[in-house]
Amino acid sequence: MPGPEPDPQRMDAVVALCKRRGFIFPSAEIYGGFRSTYDYGPLGVQMLRNVKEAWWRSMVQLRDDVVGLDAAILGPADIWRASGHLATFTDPLVDCRSCKQRWRADHLEPADDGKVHCPNCGSADLTEPRDFNLMFKTHTGPVADEASVAYLRPETAQGMFVNFKNVLQTTRKKPPFGIAQVGKSFRNEITPGNYVFRTREFEQMELEFFVPPADAPKWFDHWVDERFRWYVDLGIPQDQLRIRPHDPEELSHYSAGTSDVEFLFPFGWGELEGIANRTDFDLKAHAAASGETLDYFDQAANERYVPYVIEPAAGATRSMMAFLVAAYDQDEMGGEARTVLRLHPRLAPYKVAVLPLSRKETLTPLAREVLGLLQPRFLCDYDDTQSIGKRYRRQDEVGTPFCVTVDFDSLDDGQATVRERDSAEQVRLPIQDLVAHLAGRLDL
Ligand code: ATP
Repeated sequence: MPGPEPDPQRMDAVVALCKRRGFIFPSAEIYGGFRSTYDYGPLGVQMLRNVKEAWWRSMVQLRDDVVGLDAAILGPADIWRASGHLATFTDPLVDCRSCKQRWRADHLEPADDGKVHCPNCGSADLTEPRDFNLMFKTHTGPVADEASVAYLRPETAQGMFVNFKNVLQTTRKKPPFGIAQVGKSFRNEITPGNYVFRTREFEQMELEFFVPPADAPKWFDHWVDERFRWYVDLGIPQDQLRIRPHDPEELSHYSAGTSDVEFLFPFGWGELEGIANRTDFDLKAHAAASGETLDYFDQAANERYVPYVIEPAAGATRSMMAFLVAAYDQDEMGGEARTVLRLHPRLAPYKVAVLPLSRKETLTPLAREVLGLLQPRFLCDYDDTQSIGKRYRRQDEVGTPFCVTVDFDSLDDGQATVRERDSAEQVRLPIQDLVAHLAGRLDL
C-alpha cells in the first residue's frame, strides 16, 4: 500500500484543541515541560476512562471466559530476568558524534548517498548501534544495592503470568480463558514523540488468553478479528485501519506470530495494538525460574500441559489519540464554520450538557432540576455562560452528543429541547421523558 500523505495541520489542530479544552496538557508546564510527558485534564481524564471502560466492557463484562487483574507496577528483577526483558527488551541506540543527539537505529533510513544521517544536524558521523535497555530501574528501601534493584513494568503482561496459578485456583477457569489488565507501563524510549503516540509513561490494555496449544492459531485469528472490530465499532472508519502481520525478523523474543492493528495517523500508519502468539514462552520461563508449576491439568483428557497464550496488547493513551484524530472534523452550521468531535457517545467526555437558555433566576431552579434528573445516569456538563449558539459550539467541539436546553416555555409546559451534535436536529419533549429518551439514543 502506498504511504499516506502526512497531514501535520490536522495533527496541530487536534493538539491545540486538546490543550485549549482541557484534554491533554504538557506535564510540568510551568517548569517548561517534562520530556514528552503529558497530563490528562478534566475532559481528557474522562475520555481516557471511557476508552478503558469500553475495552473492559468488551473484554471482561461481555465475556464469561475472561477475568480481570490489577497487578503491581513495581517488580523485582526476578520477574524481568525470567521474562527475558533484562536481556532483550532493548532498542538499538546510535549517538550523533557531532550534535550528541541519540536516535533509534531502526528508525533511521540511509539517504541517497547510502549513509545514515543524523535527523537533527545532518552529520553522517554516527556511532555503531548498541543495545539500550528500555526498562526504568530503581531501588526499593533505603539501601541502594544489587539486592534492592526493582523495575517499573514495561508491559502489564507479566502480572498475568506470575498470577496464572492464583487465578486458576481462585476462579476455577480452564483454558480457553483469559486474564485482562489495564494500567500504566513505563519505557525509557530513546525517541518519544508524535504527541502521546510514544511517551515514556503510558497506559496499556492487555489480555493474556490461555489456550490449548493446538488451538492457538484459531484463537489468534479470533482475537485479530475481534480487536479490529472494536476500533470500528467505536467509530474509526475502516479505511483508516489495517492489519499488518510482522515480518519474522521483527518478532519479539517471545512471539511465534504477531499482527498489528494500525491506524492512519496524520504522520502515517502507526501501531495501535499488537496481537501476538506468545506460545508457552512466559509460563515456562517463570516456572523454570520460580520452581512453581505453571501448567494446567485437563481432567477429561487426563493430560497436563502448559497453555499457549494469545495476547492482544493495546495502548489506552495511544488509542485515545487515534479516536480524537478520527473524530476531529470541521463543517459549516448556519453559515458558520464549526469544529466538531464526532466521538462515539461511549467515548465522549460528557454525554449530555444542560443549558438554561439564560441565566435569569427564574430558569435556574428548573435547569438544576433537569441536571439532577440526568446526572445519576449520564456524565453531564452544566453551562449557563455566553449565548446559546456559542454554548452549542463549545459542546460540539468537545464531542458532547446531546444538549438539553431549558427555556422560558419549559416553565409552563414542562418540556425541554434536545439537540443532537452531528445533525444539530432538535426535538422537544417532556422533561420527565428525558432520561428514557437519552438512554435510548445514547445506547451506552
Ligand atoms: P512500538 O513498536 O510502537 O514501540 P511495541 O510493538 O513495542 O510498540 P507493544 O510492546 O506491542 O508495543 O505494546 C502494546 C501497545 O502498547 C502498543 O501497540 C501501543 O499501543 C502501546 N505502547 C507501547 N509503547 C508505547 C509508548 N511508548 N507510548 C504509548 N503507547 C505505547
